[in-house]
Amino acid sequence: MSEDTQLITDLADAVPGALYRIESSAYGDWSFSYLSNGIEALYGFTAKEVLDDPMVLNRCMHEDDLPGYAQANIVAFEKQAVLDYEYRITTRVGELRWVGLKAVPRQVDDGTITWTGIMLDITKRKRTEEALASSELRFRTVFEEAPQGIMLRDQLGKVVDANPAALRLLTQSLTEVLSQPAMQPLFDAIAPDGSSITADEHPDLIALRTGKRPASTVMGASVGLGKKERVWLRVSATPILRDGAIDRVVSTLEDVTDGVELTRKMRQEAETDFLTKLLNRRSFMARLTAEAERLTLDVDRCSAVLAIDLDHFKAVNDSFGHAAGDAVLVHAAGVITDSVRASDTVARSGGEEFLVLLPDTTPDGALSIAERVRAGFEERSAEYEGEPIAVTASIGLSLLDRNDGDISEALIYADAALYEAKAAGRNTVVAGWR
Ligand code: GH3
Ligand code: MG
Ligand code: MG
Repeated sequence: MSEDTQLITDLADAVPGALYRIESSAYGDWSFSYLSNGIEALYGFTAKEVLDDPMVLNRCMHEDDLPGYAQANIVAFEKQAVLDYEYRITTRVGELRWVGLKAVPRQVDDGTITWTGIMLDITKRKRTEEALASSELRFRTVFEEAPQGIMLRDQLGKVVDANPAALRLLTQSLTEVLSQPAMQPLFDAIAPDGSSITADEHPDLIALRTGKRPASTVMGASVGLGKKERVWLRVSATPILRDGAIDRVVSTLEDVTDGVELTRKMRQEAETDFLTKLLNRRSFMARLTAEAERLTLDVDRCSAVLAIDLDHFKAVNDSFGHAAGDAVLVHAAGVITDSVRASDTVARSGGEEFLVLLPDTTPDGALSIAERVRAGFEERSAEYEGEPIAVTASIGLSLLDRNDGDISEALIYADAALYEAKAAGRNTVVAGWR
């Protein structure tokens, strides 16, 4: 063996895998003109055994990979490009392995083609890739099937993915979602109290800006045709860091419409009088307290309260029955509501008694509204089973003074004025401040 050959042999043996050269004739028969000893570690056959019977390598190759190998050979030869192919083998002892083959074709003058290349054991890499692919598949399945909406933004704030549940909730297509400009919310939203939520307040955009995990937020999203439908979503966002910087933000969208609507309905029922649908006494008191507190901050403002009581209402019940009395109460609610302004608050405080809060109203203004209510009763009769039932009302007024938000005096004065109106013969307005 010459020194050069010895050097090449030593180098080839030091390389993991097998180095080789194949010569194939124009007629298609082929043989190894060189094969390094590394073939044994790969296939389990010695170089000598393979040189004696080269087809042993083809017999080791997984049959599903054979057609691809033949095809890759043709393509590499026609393009005179590197043959690059990965395939499975069963080794001499029955072990399954992946081999990565790279070879360079060269046409020799006499029509012979030589392939000079290397075969490497790539089993480990393939197993890792397979494991990764299967774990990705598992995550993809969770993403696709999750009942919650899941949405992903990249570090620039572009939406890069949204699962089917998110698209369904927002009634948008993936294309629409992906074409949204960076750092723009995917939907217009309001808070449960009806106030609007600005773009800056969307949890995913907060997470992107600050790297924090904003508390989950309940948002009423405008969705559907013309954005006219409302779906209530609980939205959470989590920044995902890479090397200390924000790489992605994952948001989850949970449909809480049923819960929000039930809560709203229950709250509304707790605040309103079942018969007349006006506010009840308790929620009127809350409004009155809030108004009194506002007045302590603004000395130029003045507000008034009306206490209204139907006259001889017991007689209605006695003559026409309780159901007729109820109809009169509903009628009374209508008369009062129609006589005041939209900004005024009307409540049924009990039995046949009503309270009205008139914010930002002068004493004279309050008197004329009270007179309008009184006249309204006189002008319109209630109706029960086709029969008109005439009913009048007595009204007492008071001013909501600035005694540090205390409302009890205002109600006492209004009641006292109402008592005076009754004593004065009913169907009368009396101002508590005169
Ligand atoms: P006055 O002119 O002095 O106010 O006399 P009045 O008859 O209106 O007052 P009174 O307080 O004597 O009677 C109120 C009646 O209202 C007694 C009660 O049975 C009746 N009432 C209270 N709540 C309801 C209700 O929800 N429906 C009906 N139909 N009647 C009610
Ligand atoms: Mg009464
Ligand atoms: Mg009464």
